Amino acid sequence: MNLNEIIYLDYNSTTPIDKRVLDAMSPFLSDNFANPSSTHHFGINLNEAVKKARIQVADFIGAEENEILYTSGATEAINIAIKGVAENYSAKGKHIITDSTEHYAVLDTCKHLENKGYEITYLPVSKEGLIDLTELRNSLRADTILVCVMYVNNETGVIQPIKEIASIAHEAGALFMTDATQATGKIEIDVDDLGIDLLCLSGHKMYVPKGIGALYMRKEIKLPTFMHGGGHEKGIRSGTLNVPGIIALAKACEIAQSEMKQDSDRISALLNELESKLLKIDGAFVNGNREHRICNTTNICFPNVDANVLIGRMKNVAVSNGSACTSAVVKPSHVLTAMGLSEDEAFGSIRFSLGKFNTQQEVLSAIKLISELVTNQYNDA
Ligand SMILES: *Cc1c(COP(=O)(O)O)cnc(C)c1O
Repeated sequence: MNLNEIIYLDYNSTTPIDKRVLDAMSPFLSDNFANPSSTHHFGINLNEAVKKARIQVADFIGAEENEILYTSGATEAINIAIKGVAENYSAKGKHIITDSTEHYAVLDTCKHLENKGYEITYLPVSKEGLIDLTELRNSLRADTILVCVMYVNNETGVIQPIKEIASIAHEAGALFMTDATQATGKIEIDVDDLGIDLLCLSGHKMYVPKGIGALYMRKEIKLPTFMHGGGHEKGIRSGTLNVPGIIALAKACEIAQSEMKQDSDRISALLNELESKLLKIDGAFVNGNREHRICNTTNICFPNVDANVLIGRMKNVAVSNGSACTSAVVKPSHVLTAMGLSEDEAFGSIRFSLGKFNTQQEVLSAIKLISELVTNQYNDA
């Protein structure tokens, strides 16, 4: 697959690699291969590169070096955080609050804890995809140990009021965690200002190869060992460090820090063009709040269209329909149904997620193709 041949509008699934990231990491795939834990000079040099990278990642979200734990990705970071808090704070209580539009990494981890005797409250969301802060306040109890609400929804781009949520959680004595996988690299994040205790992020959503992510954990927080072994990463996550991935992630943070603003402005203009043209299609509407939304994502419902069929007919345009295919049964998106869409409306919805390599030409071609396909599907029906 060549990026020049496909129109890739699925950046929320994963991103192509930034050439500068590749260049930064490539010495660590060849000459600089040592184990950073080794005590010889090669190891020490690598250890310094890893340390520098950790400072860069920490700096990117306003954290300190010793508050960053490297993981294989966001899913692992989420597992370490939620299961770890559940275990370490169980003396205080066994109640966790999250919401119904989280990624399955959060939802399934919570389901697992439910089977272990924890009680989980899944907050509903409005038609616009936002959680209700009064509902959150009413759900908090003396035994609530964690509130976990995602920063940016991967299917709709809706941004939750993280700062308010954190402050409400703290008033009630609970920790606040956020899955920021779709926020990092798109909006500025300062964990102190926002009041975030735990945050996860993923490299492959930020123009970095797959297999690297990070967990931010405020230094006062203690988590139990997740992976037993050589005692890496504060003894929480043992295993030889993924040095090339770490260097790549740090480079991506450095690039995002200086270019995020201008990239977001450009992507946002492309998204507006795409959205406004596609909304001219009869009956089309946007899923989710458009004011509190990340710059690169729109989720559009084309009533009476089967998004799966449509996506199958788009040979050179990559978009997503958000439905999950489990054991040959196609289920509608849990995010869209939580927002009150009917199954048919959910099946008629398409997520467009743009990124920094998209061009206006690509957007214009996609608009033309999708408009034709949707109109044809209406005519077929
Ligand atoms: C992609 C994604 C994840 C999972 O990240 P991995 O690094 O692939 O494990 C979790 N949450 C959100 C919101 C995502 O978009």
